[in-house]
Amino acid sequence: MTEIERLVELCPCSVEFDSPDREPNGACYWDSVQYFWGTRGPLVEIGSSENEAETLYSLAHETGHALCDAKKCSCGMGSYNHSDRTMSEYHAMKFAAKWLFDHKCKGGLRVAIRSIERQAMFNTVFDSPRLSAHCKAARRLVKLKLWAKCVAYAKENQCQDTNS
Ligand SMILES: [Zn+2]
Ligand SMILES: [Zn+2]
Repeated sequence: MTEIERLVELCPCSVEFDSPDREPNGACYWDSVQYFWGTRGPLVEIGSSENEAETLYSLAHETGHALCDAKKCSCGMGSYNHSDRTMSEYHAMKFAAKWLFDHKCKGGLRVAIRSIERQAMFNTVFDSPRLSAHCKAARRLVKLKLWAKCVAYAKENQCQDTNS
């Protein structure tokens, strides 16, 4: 079983590849993966991507949102009316980091570290509430012990990005 298959199994809502139920404004999307409430309820859609590690990282994040919604977490991703999505993004990022760490996904962790550390450098991103929520969540995440463990593991296994 691949790590992607494991996440698909864990995800409480349907996970589809190139679903016809696609909506233009995903509740959350990252790279080629998005989580949104479609006409048939919550759905994670995996678009086509050439990079498996990136898909894994994005799928772990969107699965985090789906799990929060399934247990009716107060971060309330399911509600489009939620004005501040920082907590929702924080929960999704934390879930993804923990899952990738627990499953020793070196490639996924490498993408996570590169992506989250970049987001943590910004306070807000232009006029995008979606990206601003991600940035605020990332700044909170990088202060966690869990994050230090992820970074240490990545370093130990020399899975830092070597071409940057
Ligand atoms: Zn939550
Ligand atoms: Zn998200």
